[in-house]
Amino acid sequence: MSTATPAEITPDYVQRLTGRGRRFESTVRSPCWGGEYSAEDYAQDLAAVAQRPSETLSLYVHIPFCAGRCLYCGCNTTVTHDSERMDAYLDTLDREMAMVAERINGDRDVLQVHLAGGTPNYLSEAQLTRLTEMLERRFHIVPDTECSMECDPRRTSAGQLELLHALGFRSIGFGVQDLDPDVQRAIGRIQSEELIRDVYWMARDIGFDSIGFDLIYGLPQQSAATFERTLDTVLELAPDRVACFGYARKTLDGPHQHAIDVHELPDNAERERLFRAAVAAFTQAGYTWIGLDTFALETDDLALAQAEGRLHRNCIGYTATPSAHLAGLGAGAIGELRGTCVQNQPDLQTWQQEVDAGRIPVDRGHKLSDLDRRRRDAISHLICNLELPHEMADGCLDDEYRRLAAYAGDGLVEALPHGLRVTEAGRFFLRELCTEHDAYFHWDRARWHFSPSE
Ligand code: SF4
Repeated sequence: MSTATPAEITPDYVQRLTGRGRRFESTVRSPCWGGEYSAEDYAQDLAAVAQRPSETLSLYVHIPFCAGRCLYCGCNTTVTHDSERMDAYLDTLDREMAMVAERINGDRDVLQVHLAGGTPNYLSEAQLTRLTEMLERRFHIVPDTECSMECDPRRTSAGQLELLHALGFRSIGFGVQDLDPDVQRAIGRIQSEELIRDVYWMARDIGFDSIGFDLIYGLPQQSAATFERTLDTVLELAPDRVACFGYARKTLDGPHQHAIDVHELPDNAERERLFRAAVAAFTQAGYTWIGLDTFALETDDLALAQAEGRLHRNCIGYTATPSAHLAGLGAGAIGELRGTCVQNQPDLQTWQQEVDAGRIPVDRGHKLSDLDRRRRDAISHLICNLELPHEMADGCLDDEYRRLAAYAGDGLVEALPHGLRVTEAGRFFLRELCTEHDAYFHWDRARWHFSPSE
């Protein structure tokens, strides 16, 4: 068996392998879901969950509004400056919550609430308060419910952060992306280092339990030198968690990304160097590297969960407190309920019309087959624990297991008596390795493939 080390992974090899992985934002990627799952099916699934009050529930709430469009953005969001439009959205969201809570038995304790978008903190303080009250009225939010939220540093203030903390949010994630002014200009998102420092220290002083930063590598104008400066500043601030995502160019879904000049994008080899720089910087500073792309201080829940083998990943990301069901609320929200991946109508108007007509606004869903579940469990185990025991593949995923085992020749995995383990070299290609277990990825791979010559 080859014992290739990271140093032996050539730029050619990186070029060949990179882009063969997909994001794991849901068990089966939504473009691959069938169209046969209806609002009635979802209502039945909610009713079935109601019969199992001991099964745990989490909520994902999507707020699809932003003040402007960042050029790299791949989110389902709308640019607006109309606060009344957001009021109307909350009206509809409240009716959707009522429909879902009534069917699912909203009395059970909610484990986690996560607000994302869009820009949830683009809502006014009154709207944020109203949203929290709506959730509390429709669902059983308890003091132990983990409430987290994505936050745009450009739209927050000490007053807003104090309010969020008072409303029960304990975990907050700031979109930092990159601190270099040229990179920021190239991606249409200007936020000075001073602003990030101010916002960070406000959140620290207020007492949030967990402060996270999102960074992106592979952006236009980014170089090893600029990214290093961003990493230095982030390390100096020492957030509890850092997620470091690769920029995924998807111009079919987000035509505004055409405004990014492809000639300013780092190529695959440079992207890989940037990510390696992040891994080196965070691990040397004492952060634990979590699964694919997340770094957490050793005392953080995610780091403890990974060390104890109880780390999970769902549509929200990595979590130490997985729930049996995740209900998505709001336009385009994704959830997973009773082994079915579900997405709401992504179009704001259609979503609103469905709710107004008294229908749960489901766009589509994918009921996982037994084989899908085996794949999901295998991918989840790999992506969280960096290993795949024999018995998870036995009998039905043998081909996938063999394909994965073949990477031992490149030094990306190693064979152990009980199964396969991802090596240190293989960790940099974890996304690609997990994709060997994804039967659906080939469906529209072209839409996701990163190509600097696009
Ligand atoms: S990146 Fe965030 S803030 Fe920027 S447009 Fe997308 S959702 Fe809005």
